Amino acid sequence: MITVMAEHAGFCFGVKRAVDAIEHALQDNSEVWTIGLPIHNPQEVARLQAMGLRVADSEEDIPSGAKVLIRAHGESLEVIDRLKAKGVSVEDMTCPFVRKAQDMAAELSRSNYHVVLLGDKNHPEIKGIIGHTAKPESVEVVMNEEEAHRITRHSRIALVSQTTQREERLALVAGILAVKCSELHVCNTICKATSERQEAVRELVRHHDVDGAVLIGGKQSANTGKLRDIIASEGVSVLWVEDEEELNRETEWFMNKHRIGIAAGASTPGWLIDKIRNTIADK
Ligand code: SF4
Repeated sequence: MITVMAEHAGFCFGVKRAVDAIEHALQDNSEVWTIGLPIHNPQEVARLQAMGLRVADSEEDIPSGAKVLIRAHGESLEVIDRLKAKGVSVEDMTCPFVRKAQDMAAELSRSNYHVVLLGDKNHPEIKGIIGHTAKPESVEVVMNEEEAHRITRHSRIALVSQTTQREERLALVAGILAVKCSELHVCNTICKATSERQEAVRELVRHHDVDGAVLIGGKQSANTGKLRDIIASEGVSVLWVEDEEELNRETEWFMNKHRIGIAAGASTPGWLIDKIRNTIADK
């Protein structure tokens, strides 16, 4: 089987930085905690857990004196303050691109803009951004154009995006909000890693004559889900797998396919991409 790799695939800068920090912290501590999964990749999380990573559901589960790494998605200021107050050592590994979205939302909220976030209201990154604003209760989150139509009129609106959103959607939502206020401030806080991976899969399935695409990444990963949507929207058959065992169960999908494109989400480690690529090449 011939495999063609997307130009940008796997760990982005922010995820690599956070994983490196966890590994580094585990050299000096027998256990290191994160609140929630550090990345949306079960195989990589299992590898880190075997080294001593502990994953807490909430900050309440973390014992005093523990070492906590704030994951790349970020965390609200309130949670970080509560951790410090109970004597937890906090290392903040919020991705700098997420930090930029937090800072812009905070600044515009302080300047009395009505802050609208484009993203998933249940995603920890969005919760963390809200938790950095001066008036968290007044921040509104919209997931799409339909929800943007429901925003009422305000004199000044600031639109900030979750880093993993698509630029096309940000532009459409900005167009809808522009007629609902006298002044609209749009912050394009979509990170380059996301758009690079999105462009790379588009290029892969449009210009490399592939019979199908295997997408590698955690099923809970929002950015991998968006890559799947892009591949499907180009009319190319996509097989989304987390590990090589799943790949082996899908032998039917490979029938009559000779040239396979390979893409991976920003939370997929390189070692897993190599393993899966080799398995496909041997088919
Ligand atoms: S996808 Fe972008 S914003 Fe998110 S962790 Fe990676 S580099 Fe940072």
